[in-house]
Amino acid sequence: MPPKKKSATKGKGKKYVFFFGKGKSEGKASMKPLLGGKGANLAEMASIGLPVPPGFTLTTEACADYYKLGKKALFSKIEKEVADHLARLEAMTGKTFGKGPNPLLVSVRSGAAVSMPGMMDTVLNLGLNEETVAALIKLTGDERFAMDSYRRFIQMFGNVVMGLDHHDFEHELDAVKKAKKAKNDTDLTAKDLKEVIKRYKAVVKKATGKNFPENPMDQLWAGIDAVFGSWNNPRAIKYCQINDIRGLMGTAVNVQTMVFGNSGENSATGVAFTRDPSTGENKYFYGEFLVNAQGEDVVAGIRTPQQITIAGSREWAKSQGIDEKTRKEQFPSLQEVMPKCFKTLDNIRLKLEKHYRDMQDLEFTIEDGELFMLQTRNGKRTAPAAVKIAIDLAKEGLITEKEAVMRVEPSSLDQLLHPVFVQASEDKAKKIAVGLPASPGAATGQVVFNAEDAEEWAGKGKAVILCRVETSPEDIGGMHVAKGILTARGGMTSHAAVVARGMGTCCVAGCGDVNIDYKTKKFTCKGVTVKEGDWISLNGSTGAVYTGKIDSVEPALTGPFGKIMKLADKYRKLGVRTNADTPHDAEVAVRFGAEGIGLCRTEHMFFEGERIVSFRRLILVAETVKSLKDANSVSTLDELEKVCAEDKKALAAIAQYRQALKELLPVQRKDFTGIFKALAGRPCTVRLLDPPLHEFLPHDDAGQKEMAQQMGVSPKDIKNLVEGLHEFNPMLGHRGCRLGITYPEVTEMQARAICEAAVAVKGSKPEIMVPLVGNVKELALQKQIILDVIEDVKKKKKVKRLNVLIGTMIEIPRAAVTADEIAEEAEFFSFGTNDLTQMGCGFSRDDAGKFLGEYVNAGIYEYDPFQVLDQTGVGELVKIACRKGRKTRKNIKLGICGEHGGEPKSVEFCHNVGLNYVSCSPYRVPIARLAAAQAVLRKKMG
Ligand code: PEP
Ligand code: MG
Repeated sequence: MPPKKKSATKGKGKKYVFFFGKGKSEGKASMKPLLGGKGANLAEMASIGLPVPPGFTLTTEACADYYKLGKKALFSKIEKEVADHLARLEAMTGKTFGKGPNPLLVSVRSGAAVSMPGMMDTVLNLGLNEETVAALIKLTGDERFAMDSYRRFIQMFGNVVMGLDHHDFEHELDAVKKAKKAKNDTDLTAKDLKEVIKRYKAVVKKATGKNFPENPMDQLWAGIDAVFGSWNNPRAIKYCQINDIRGLMGTAVNVQTMVFGNSGENSATGVAFTRDPSTGENKYFYGEFLVNAQGEDVVAGIRTPQQITIAGSREWAKSQGIDEKTRKEQFPSLQEVMPKCFKTLDNIRLKLEKHYRDMQDLEFTIEDGELFMLQTRNGKRTAPAAVKIAIDLAKEGLITEKEAVMRVEPSSLDQLLHPVFVQASEDKAKKIAVGLPASPGAATGQVVFNAEDAEEWAGKGKAVILCRVETSPEDIGGMHVAKGILTARGGMTSHAAVVARGMGTCCVAGCGDVNIDYKTKKFTCKGVTVKEGDWISLNGSTGAVYTGKIDSVEPALTGPFGKIMKLADKYRKLGVRTNADTPHDAEVAVRFGAEGIGLCRTEHMFFEGERIVSFRRLILVAETVKSLKDANSVSTLDELEKVCAEDKKALAAIAQYRQALKELLPVQRKDFTGIFKALAGRPCTVRLLDPPLHEFLPHDDAGQKEMAQQMGVSPKDIKNLVEGLHEFNPMLGHRGCRLGITYPEVTEMQARAICEAAVAVKGSKPEIMVPLVGNVKELALQKQIILDVIEDVKKKKKVKRLNVLIGTMIEIPRAAVTADEIAEEAEFFSFGTNDLTQMGCGFSRDDAGKFLGEYVNAGIYEYDPFQVLDQTGVGELVKIACRKGRKTRKNIKLGICGEHGGEPKSVEFCHNVGLNYVSCSPYRVPIARLAAAQAVLRKKMG
């Protein structure tokens, strides 16, 4: 990604390198934009007295200048600063870089301001060469450890810095393991490892024509170069796109003294969370470690990691069907094998949570019985965990209620609203394996074995489960579109688990019984074969894998979710309604907290069952009736019947028109009655018919033939009708209130159905909304029809009062800029920002998808304006309409019902311009509620 922001420290005195370690840190936690998350937190941890191996951080500004000035210019600028910091590091550690007797080895790691797990590159054990490896052997007396570190370094450096395929190295390692009959890497002796190193060096020589670099300074600069270079790699770019990470300066580079988790049985390395990142539970200390290993072993999922606590270890063993004896012998917890280090780590966990006031994700290494902290950061978590942790931290007094509201990302709530398996259906399903419950939820889909297939199948609308031995950052696109992810290898902190949790995608990881064969696109599991395209189901909360489909149900909305929603409601000012046009959707939305319907689109109602036949009958004669009215200069059907008394054909057309309306009235009334009942006294904005009429007609020959039979006309007549209604640009054509102007009887029928339903359901609050108004006179004409109906219904139903608000959508730019005139007639405005975007930006809703992605990538628009409101342009139209509308009618009710009504950034905009409510699809109601509360709190915080 190109650097976005300007330099924080301008001019000559720019400091590019910051030291950290033993109370001498130059940075602190708040300097994340400059030092990256990792660098800032290493500095902070060292400052508060935690055991952090010392090192230094090259700033994100250096990364920005790497791209701006070029590598050569930047490196010559920072050469001295890096050398000075290296000297300082040598002085503090008493080690020498590139020399014995006590060689300084470092890790070189990336770290942007926002954590992007596994997205950029890392090199460990840098500084090793033939000379320093010999010194290391002498120093530690452990030749195997030194050789293991060296071979890891060559492999990582070769892959990350020199760009060689890591499989080429794996291939050599496997060959040596095979020759030596070694099952695990740890079974290889120092001599075996020497052979591996020899082979690795040959791999490098063969691929590059050069020897592996011996000079540690060259290694360091190449490492720095690789990390800065990795900021622009496709994985990192895709990660930023998916996670909407923008405006970062670049990545920092952390150069840190190595500590060795692979220096024997008294050493270990691990990752841990201060609370469970899947559920938010705080039962025990969650995490995994491996004895005699380096960090990448835990993440790569090559060996089965062990748990931190005894309780966690027992629970894990139970889920894996491992008995206590085997667990104790083969997979004991850290608490059991290194009780002292465990105690220190547990204290650090508590200290860090208090210090950062949030759940932390920790990396640690134990070198010969001594614990070191390598990282802390606010841990990634699932949405259920985020909600629970926020509520619990507030209860524990670590954060305030308001902070709890701000801690949950509104759009992530989507994950809490997804269905879970129906217990009975799950009980009946055939369970074939149990893996780790890496990311909760339930998924049913067709099996695919690689990310490209996942993207292709999902593109065709299929639900897919991505099955991989283990995932890597290259799989990110496929993981994003999959309903669920199943991996055969890897723990709770494997790439698949971490990424799936971040995405809110159901994931079962480390399912060892699943044997995947990519070549034949099959997996076998305890005698069952599952092929590409077969259906399977995953329960991400238990780790169970099933063959076939399983029914699912809506989730419960109580517990921490209910609490965070209650808090959101306490602070928000915006009302939240829903877009729904069936009683069922209305009920779902009310359960999610909708305070009414902001948009009931009535066109969907015309498609159901027999009514499409009635409506088509109406359309068939509508134009004839209209022409007759015009020719005879009459405006009502009664008048027309009188003047056409002798014209049998005309009378037949009028009769058909009337009959269709008569058939439609009761079914529409029934629809509205059902919806009003579901809303139980909450307001309901019903929009009159909006789409162009041709949308209700069949366009294929078979459909037209069928319609002709139903209507008793020839297929040619139907074809002519369809052709007659054809428009070159239907979105700007005969639709919205223009239909009501041409066919006022349709408006009348709809208004009558609404009013009669309102009389039938006590306490209902209908609001009739006229669509696509651009001129106040359109609204005035439609309003008069509605007012006449209200009076008529009152009279006929003998009711004194029938409170129906009449308003309009603001979805045409002309309506926005003449809102003062329109407000003379309208009692409310609802911003139809889908059409307002279409007409405001001049982007066809139907066609712009083809190029909008490119527009966003090129930065022409920051976001797709159909998803996130274009505040600069379309938002300005909204502001104008609000101002002008209020000028005429001080208390005019203002809402939004375009797709933007459930999008957090747009909701914030709606709050800031003072709308009364937002309206969105049922599943986005909780998102809008939380976003509305955050808008209030963010404004208060300035
Ligand atoms: C709109 O235009 O924003 C709107 C809600 O109406 P529709 O999407 O039905 O055109
Ligand atoms: Mg519209």
